[in-house]
Order: sequence, then structure tokens, then C-alpha cells
Amino acid sequence: MAKLNPHFDDLPASYLFREIKRRAGLFQEKNPGVPLLRLGIGDTTQPLPPAVIAGLHAAVDKLSRKETYTGYMDEGSVALREALVKRYAERGVSLDIDEIFISDGAKPDSANIQSIFSVHNTVAVQDPAYPVYVDTNVMAGRAGKLTKKGYSRFVYMPCTEENGFIPDIPKKKVDLIYICSPNNPTGMVATHAQLKRFVDYANRNKAVIIFDAAYSTYITDPDLPRTIYEVPGAEKCAIEISSFSKEAGFTGVRLGWTVVPKTVRAEGSKAGKVNALWNRRQATMFNGASNIVQEGGVAVLSEPGQKECREIIAYYMNNASVIKKGLEKTGLKVYGGVNAPFLWVKAPGKMKSWDFFDKLLNEAHVVGTPGSGFGPCGEGYFRLSAFGDAGDTQRAVASIQASLKI
Ligand SMILES: *Cc1c(COP(=O)(O)O)cnc(C)c1O
Repeated sequence: MAKLNPHFDDLPASYLFREIKRRAGLFQEKNPGVPLLRLGIGDTTQPLPPAVIAGLHAAVDKLSRKETYTGYMDEGSVALREALVKRYAERGVSLDIDEIFISDGAKPDSANIQSIFSVHNTVAVQDPAYPVYVDTNVMAGRAGKLTKKGYSRFVYMPCTEENGFIPDIPKKKVDLIYICSPNNPTGMVATHAQLKRFVDYANRNKAVIIFDAAYSTYITDPDLPRTIYEVPGAEKCAIEISSFSKEAGFTGVRLGWTVVPKTVRAEGSKAGKVNALWNRRQATMFNGASNIVQEGGVAVLSEPGQKECREIIAYYMNNASVIKKGLEKTGLKVYGGVNAPFLWVKAPGKMKSWDFFDKLLNEAHVVGTPGSGFGPCGEGYFRLSAFGDAGDTQRAVASIQASLKI
């Protein structure tokens, strides 16, 4: 008889976005004609800029001619990987092109990377965090039992108001450490000094850091690290995962990459082994990102592409600023939203995340995302996003200012 993977049953039913939809739907039924203002969007909304569209069109045309036709490109386009090597070089980081693996996105890579590590590793995660890190390690059998404080075998690194939402290194020995900076959902960014503590910890304990840099291009403060490899020693312990999704609006197009330096090592393995295992995993289970899309990626990294993508990011970050300033005027405490498209709002008083959801919905007709959906430490917080239309964002903020009773 076929037996199923029992660890899937260790996951709670996915609840967050279904419940948001249910409550918003109920409100609409009771209040027909009242427009809902959405500040919870976790997806890009602006169209692709002209230089990127031109790159995609040209790639389609190449497929129409025998001389320029291409088939499998398992390891990723050389032009794209060279363009990424150049980007890292501009940040003072030297990489070989076979240390960069092109993929169909940062979510699949951050989900799959755990598969090259033993099931006996202890996993540390930021709390709150993007749910993929936890859920995929649950499926793989590294989680233990689920209690009110989370999974028994995970080490949670609390992100609190006291530590500025950037956690300190784990107090006990862990093996795999997931860090997302700028962090989704808090919108907060780790400094060089904060990342250095993690890098030193990892090198001391032969741990591996899995660093999600999906929002790195939203960082404008020149003092903040945009790749973990800006921190000396990270080349020995860190895998970096990133994406064109938020930088270039590729959420539906699909393109990302993972950096595995050959100098990264794990317990009992020589340098080069971690890189070789990821290469083997991808060669076995993945046949490469679409060649059309990879040419789109090259266009994103071209000079006109970068200029146009930066303008779109500035549009979203203007929304972030409108939300932050507007909500601060009402007396709410708002974190993030300066070097990231997410804002982390503290619910007033001792109000819980879902109670604040209902209050915002009923009083201001605004829909956001309860922080408790991202981990135990998200309780009492609320995530707002800057990915909406500028006019809608302004209307939502005006409605909060006019109608939210704090
Ligand atoms: C949106 C997002 C990604 C991007 O994933 P893709 O699969 O590349 O679209 C990765 N990590 C985090 C934290 C995100 O919020």
C-alpha cells in the first residue's frame, strides 16, 4: 500500500489568506457598495518597463530562427550569470559564474535548498518570517511537534521592538539559519554589524546561513548591506537566494538565482561539496528557467533596464512613505517601509493582530495582513504593503486618518 509523507500532516491548514478573504467577503455582504481599500498586497502590480519588454520580445524572435534557436539551458544563460557576476562585483563581491545557479524563482530555491542537508540538522528561523522556510523543513521532517510556541525542534529567533526586529544569534548550537533581509513581513534590514554576528557564529559552529535577498534592490541607505557577501567570512558559510520578482515585477514571469560559493563548507565536507550538491540537485530535478525569461533578466540588468526598474521601485517606495507618514500622524507605531516595501504596524494598546484586522476593516474599510500569520512573535502586529496603486494607497491612508478610532 502506498504510504504518504506523514510530515505533511505536521503542517496546520493554511489559514491566513483564506481567513482574510472570508472576513473581507463577509464585510462586503453586509456593506454592499462600500469599496474595500487593499493594503495587503504581497505581489507587484506595475507593468514591466519598455527595456524589459523589448528584451522578452527579442528572445521570442530568436526562437523563430534556426541560427539563434536554443533548447535546454540547464545551468542558466551565460550572459545572465555574467551580468549577475558584474552586479556582485559592483558591490565588492567576487564570484565565479559556476557559483550562480539560475532558477524559476526564490521561493522554489528557498524551499528546495534544505534537501541537500541532513534531516538531523537543527533549523533556526526569524520569527516572524516568510512561511516557506518553516513549512518546507516541516515537510522534510525537521520540525518535531507543533505547540503554542511553534515547532519543538526549531529554534525561533524573535524579532521584537526591543531588538529593532533584527534578532540576535541563537543561544544554542544550530546548523541551518534562515535570514531574510530586508525581512518580509517586518520591512526591517540587518546592518553589517548584525550580519557579521551571524557570519561569525556560523563559521564558529560550522553552520550554514541561507540568506534571502529578494528585496535587496529596495535598500537605498548606502550603509546597509545588499548582499550577505559584503560581510567578510560569509563566502565560507552563506548561500544567498534572490529573485527578479520584486526588483523587476517578475512575480508571474518567474526568474531567480541562488549563489553557492565553492568556499562554503559543511560538517565533514571539503570546500566545493555544497556547491556540487546543489548543482547535482538542480541538474536532477530542474531543467532550467525559460530561455525567453532569462533574456528578460539580462534586459533587467542592462543600463536602461536598471533605470526603469529603479523608477518602479521608487513608485512603490513613495507609497511606503505615504503609508508610514500618514499612519504615524494618527499615533500608530510604524516600522519598516524605508528600505523595504513592507510596513510593520504595532496594533494599539494590547490589541491582537486579528482584532486589529477587524477594526481596520470595519472602521476604515482597509484590508491588510495580520502579523500573527507570520509566526508567534508577529502577534500584536500588522503588515501593510506598498505594492498597490498610488491613488488607492492614498485613499486607504486618508480613510484610516478620517475613520480609525485609536
Ligand atoms: C516575494 C518573495 C520571494 C520571491 O519569490 P519568487 O519565487 O522569486 O517570486 C522570496 N522571498 C521572499 C521573502 C519574498 O517575499
